Amino acid sequence: MVEASEEVYASLHRRFKGDLLRPGQSGYEDARAIWNGMVARVPGLIARCADVSDVQNAVRAASEVGILTAIRCGGHSLAGHSTCDGGMVIDLSKMRQVMVDPEARRAWISGGCLLGSVDAETQTAGLVFPSGVVSHTGASGLILGGGTGWLTRRFGLSCDNVEGFTLVTADGSVVRSNSKENPDLFWALRGGGGNFGVVTEFEVRLYPLTAVVLSEGLSPEAGIRSLLEYWREFMAEAPLDLKWNINLRLAPQTENVPIELRGRPVASSSLIWTGDPEAARPYLEQALSMWSPDSVSSRIVSFLNLQTMADSDFPHGWRYYTKSGYFTYLDDSSIDRMLEAVVTLPSSQTQIELAYLGGAAARVAAQETAFGDRSAPFIVNLLASWSEASADAGNISWIRGLFNKLRPSMKPGVYVNFMSGDEQDRVREAYQERWDRMVAVKLHYDPNNFFRLNQNVPPRKLVAATS
Ligand SMILES: Cc1cc2nc3c(=O)[nH]c(=O)nc-3n(C[C@H](O)[C@H](O)[C@H](O)COP(=O)(O)OP(=O)(O)OC[C@H]3O[C@@H](n4cnc5c(N)ncnc54)[C@H](O)[C@@H]3O)c2cc1C
Repeated sequence: MVEASEEVYASLHRRFKGDLLRPGQSGYEDARAIWNGMVARVPGLIARCADVSDVQNAVRAASEVGILTAIRCGGHSLAGHSTCDGGMVIDLSKMRQVMVDPEARRAWISGGCLLGSVDAETQTAGLVFPSGVVSHTGASGLILGGGTGWLTRRFGLSCDNVEGFTLVTADGSVVRSNSKENPDLFWALRGGGGNFGVVTEFEVRLYPLTAVVLSEGLSPEAGIRSLLEYWREFMAEAPLDLKWNINLRLAPQTENVPIELRGRPVASSSLIWTGDPEAARPYLEQALSMWSPDSVSSRIVSFLNLQTMADSDFPHGWRYYTKSGYFTYLDDSSIDRMLEAVVTLPSSQTQIELAYLGGAAARVAAQETAFGDRSAPFIVNLLASWSEASADAGNISWIRGLFNKLRPSMKPGVYVNFMSGDEQDRVREAYQERWDRMVAVKLHYDPNNFFRLNQNVPPRKLVAATS
């Protein structure tokens, strides 16, 4: 019997303009790797599309044969959804065009772009698109799930800044979606992940910004509690220009870290200010007073510098595992649990990432997008990263153990882009009261669940809603 991937290959190879890679062929091994080294799968075919018609042909051929199909932009899915065993990967990495209209402050981003390609092009016009904090992340997966980053408080989530989508749906059609054309799909695509089709282009809003004030510093273990108590109140009153992220981790063994902190549990703060640097002074003075004075640095950095400074902390091919949630308020008992956990960190890179949303993101009403409710401003992301398979069990069980302890204080809900591959049971929690509407849109655009390698919303009939 001919394997499904061979059938798809036979159907595609005469008309396909991009690359069709099969196991054993040159380039296949590099092409099959995704960012999370925990997920090493062997697809039967990688269709690296050159343009929209390649995407249409690949979707039609795969759907006729009924082969399991993954969609890949930057390959950074923590859950490993952008690959599969035996099936096909539609790889968009050749589709990385970014077109900017400086007058209209608009950009058109192709479906395979990395954040770095978007930033580089928009900055030539002195403009920014609010996205994530690591430039090798794919723009498509990030925007479709929501998209948080340095500029979220000032300009909103990435998905809040999309004016329109062009996508290839499960029957191979090209569909436009914006507030006027297919508005239900427009609602669902802003937070609904890859459930509805292959997005080949995003039309997005841009804002003028080329540099920010960046302050960084460490607080020793003994100061973490008072820092977090201070931070949770400070952020509630902070201006939109200010974003302050805190990671609880082991301090790096590097020269710029005070010797007594190296390798010790610390709170690592990074704070940016996007407005007039003079106006930042009073806020920075307050925040910086909580950090070890000999660890503090403050400077003006270019936006491109800001967007790439964390790149090397998240290398491709390392092993990663995550669990995440929201808090309405970071209560004392949650701080206690984090402090207990930080002295048993299982790897030098594993960390508790704390961010405060609010600002422009919180001004978008819950029903406006599939991303939904933004009223719980504290996002906690427990992220383990390590290099050797022998450390898998220790890191995964540390994350699960801490998550179970924090869970009772969390507000139900989860950001789909911060979920691991074993959390399918939380997808409904991610969409909550928006679930039935998501299912209805899915049923309309993808009735056979062709796009199912994602935090999946299955197109089941709305039995509960209609009975
Ligand atoms: C190092 C790192 C840093 C991160 N930083 C941030 C951050 O600052 N802010 C934040 O919000 N998130 C962040 N994330 C999470 C990130 O948003 C998700 O991992 C996201 O899925 C990455 O997008 P991608 O295109 O690289 O993913 P891929 O692995 O390529 O795709 C993931 C899924 O997205 C869907 N998808 C991808 N492209 C398309 C497309 N064109 N059309 C339809 N569906 C598509 C598919 O369902 C696919 O399975 C980060 C992740 C990593 C690994």
